[in-house]
Amino acid sequence: MTELAYLSEPEAAYVRSFRARVTALPPGAVVLDRTYFYPTGGGQPSDRGTLSISGRTTVEVIDVTKSGLSVLHRVRGSPAALRELAAGTEVEGVLDWDRRYRHMRLHTGQHLLSARIFARTRLRTRRAQLMGSGATLDLEGALPPEVIPLLQDDLAEAVLHPRPVTLRHVPRAEWDRNPFAERSGLVPLPAQVDPVRVVEIEAADVCPCGGTHLRSTREIGRVALHPPVPVPGGDRVGFTLEEPSLPTPPG
Ligand SMILES: [Zn+2]
Repeated sequence: MTELAYLSEPEAAYVRSFRARVTALPPGAVVLDRTYFYPTGGGQPSDRGTLSISGRTTVEVIDVTKSGLSVLHRVRGSPAALRELAAGTEVEGVLDWDRRYRHMRLHTGQHLLSARIFARTRLRTRRAQLMGSGATLDLEGALPPEVIPLLQDDLAEAVLHPRPVTLRHVPRAEWDRNPFAERSGLVPLPAQVDPVRVVEIEAADVCPCGGTHLRSTREIGRVALHPPVPVPGGDRVGFTLEEPSLPTPPG
C-alpha cells in the first residue's frame, strides 16, 4: 500500500522532493511507502523524475501507475543502480517539476473552462485529457461557436483577477444527500470514494477530483482556446498554454 501524499493537503501539490522507503520491487518498478509522484489517471498523465539512493545513485522514474492500493514507479537505470534498490531502502524522490507544474496549470484551467462552459451553456464535460502544453474537453453536446470569445475572456479574467483554489473533504453521506457540483454530475463517483475530495475555485467552480491543482487561477497564465470540433457524443474544445514554462510563484 502506498500513501498518496500528493493528495493530503492543498500545498502537497507543490512538493517537488520527498523521502520515502521502498516496500516492494515488482519487475521494472518500485513501490514506496508514500509518494508525491502523481500516477496516470483522470486524464492527467503521470509524473516523471528520479529516485536517489544515499544521495549518489540515481534511477529515472519514467512512468507511474496505480495498481490496487499501491503506486508503481517504473524505473530505468544502470544495472548497478537498480541493484541498490531493495525493500527497506530509503530513497529521495525528485519530480520533473516543469512537467508536473504544466499539468497543474492545465488541470486547473480545465476545471475553470468546464465551469464556464457549464455556466454559459449548461453543457457538462464528459471527459478531459491533458497532454504536453494543451488540454481537450469532450462535452455532452455542441458548443455554439459564438461562445468561444466569451470563454476566452473568462479565462483571461481569472488570471487578471485571480481566484483562490481550495480543497476540502466532505463525508460521502453528506455529499450524496446534496451533491453541489452540478457541472460534474455526468460521471458517477465510485462507491468506495469516502470522503469526497472537493476542489473549489472561489465563486467559479466546485468539483470532486483526485488530481493536482494550483493554489490560484493566476498561475494558469495566458491560454489560447481552439474552435470546437465534433467528436462522437458532442463537441471537443481545446486550449493551449501560451507560456508552457512559467516559474512557480512563491506561495
Ligand atoms: Zn481536478
